[in-house]
Amino acid sequence: MENHGTGYSEVIKIRAHHLLCIQGFQGYGYSRKFLINLENVIKFLKNHPYSCLEVVAEADVICERCPHLEGGCCNRYLHSNSIKSMDIQVLKKMGIADGHIGQVKNLFSQVKEVINTIEDVEDICGRCSWKDRCSWYLNLEV
Ligand code: SF4
Ligand code: SF4
Repeated sequence: MENHGTGYSEVIKIRAHHLLCIQGFQGYGYSRKFLINLENVIKFLKNHPYSCLEVVAEADVICERCPHLEGGCCNRYLHSNSIKSMDIQVLKKMGIADGHIGQVKNLFSQVKEVINTIEDVEDICGRCSWKDRCSWYLNLEV
């Protein structure tokens, strides 16, 4: 499957917990390169709600321009598996497998439906350093 005419030649990979981070993005990030890329990804998703995404528990199109991607893996967290476990928990709550392909619109509706309280995200976002700047997380707290 390809996202023809969108600027991406293949189905975009998005790591599962980024389905949440994208909703909370307020313009903060790790570097200018990272931010430009993330803004482009978000713009693409908004403009192409019927294109397909592959939801994964590994580095994705956002990680690709992140200064914390080292040898294909995220080096930001002390325990290398903790970032992956955030993805796995989101996949579990959504009831989909690693590598699931779905439409942008459907995937965001699905994730909003199953993860929508602060209790739902305690395990997922617990260690994230962006919690106080993530509108998605902050909106769940109130
Ligand atoms: S709090 Fe962190 S991990 Fe959770 S959605 Fe926001 S940016 Fe992503
Ligand atoms: S911090 Fe890790 S998971 Fe987050 S974008 Fe960077 S490489 Fe990817």
